[in-house]
Amino acid sequence: MATTMVEQRAAPVADGALLGTYRPAPPVFVRGEGVRVYDDAGRAYLDFVAGIGVNALGYGDASVRAAVERALSTGLIHLSNLYRTEPAAALAQMLVDASFADRVFFCNSGAEATEAAFKFARRWARSRGGEAKHEIVALRNSFHGRLFGALAATDRPAMQAPFTPLMPGVRFVDPGDPASLDTALDPARTAAIIVEPVQGEGGVRPLPADVLARLREAADANDALLIFDEVQCGLGRTGHLFAYQASGVIPDILTLAKPLAGGLPMGAVLLTGRVAETIQPGDHATTFGGGPLVATVATTVFARIADPAFLNRVRVLGEYLHEQLRELAASCPGIVDVRGAGLMWGIALDRPAAPVAAAALEAGLLVATAGERVLRLLPPLVIRESDIDEAVAILGEVLA
Ligand code: PLP
Repeated sequence: MATTMVEQRAAPVADGALLGTYRPAPPVFVRGEGVRVYDDAGRAYLDFVAGIGVNALGYGDASVRAAVERALSTGLIHLSNLYRTEPAAALAQMLVDASFADRVFFCNSGAEATEAAFKFARRWARSRGGEAKHEIVALRNSFHGRLFGALAATDRPAMQAPFTPLMPGVRFVDPGDPASLDTALDPARTAAIIVEPVQGEGGVRPLPADVLARLREAADANDALLIFDEVQCGLGRTGHLFAYQASGVIPDILTLAKPLAGGLPMGAVLLTGRVAETIQPGDHATTFGGGPLVATVATTVFARIADPAFLNRVRVLGEYLHEQLRELAASCPGIVDVRGAGLMWGIALDRPAAPVAAAALEAGLLVATAGERVLRLLPPLVIRESDIDEAVAILGEVLA
């Protein structure tokens, strides 16, 4: 029997058919507008998670909506990489024009971007040193995704343990310990170093420019590539279009995902010409990558974020948020550290962060965690100072 809209809304959501890979919070969200989301009882929540860094332009953005409608009007939601389409080519050109890169590969998520980056790095390395030159060097506290290669380079033994054997050939180094770099890298074995310029899931840890520079030097000295994973910290999040631009250290490969297509699934791998020229047709592929709908929306999102005035505003808001968090920390002994960049901040606590995030949700604020004792703030990049005041006031109450 058909149900009316009202009956559907009133019915409790039965999510028992969903696989238990998540532990979602109780509210059922039905709508978003600006920097707020609304549950099925009509309650508003200020969103400092933004879909884990995805919803950079907030909710209901008019330019994203217009881009979706423009793409739909062509009838080509998807075609195939067997054929040429304009939006993917245009988006790739925009990314190349704005970055160090010469070529771009599109995929559908952050973890897929990591996997593709590893394949491209190994392809390049094989052309230099044969099969032995295949190792990936990753950093302590890293997170690169949940697929087998990405998980192998993710420094979370508990996440890895149930699924071993993972992709072999990964070594971990402590970025603060140059000796560990010397031991891990070897020109005969190493294909690439992978690093998040601002580590996200591992506790929101910006890597100092001199550490990134040391990784660049180590890669060069060992005839290896440097991969920057900017899935979380890229595309305006730090107040720079790409996080690497703040450090002056230039990678050979860079991965993007989260905000790229305004909430539609899309990842990208940016490569220099010397890596790209080792990749042949058939070396890698994905059915959906760079389809006309997602690519059209991404060109709109990218143009918005790449606008210098937009990035400048993110930097201003980032400084304001930092200042407010420093003040909060000064009056709140439970906060042991505040760290981040732009609109990506971690609040390290003296206690588990999950109950604090749950209390913030009760009080009308969405915040994420990063590891056991860190609260993570990733608001939409279009927040205002008054939203920051409101969020910090709620955090102050729940931490008091
Ligand atoms: N790399 C980084 C730095 C991330 O933060 C994430 C996800 O949080 C990923 C990769 C994986 O992205 P996805 O969840 O889209 O596979």
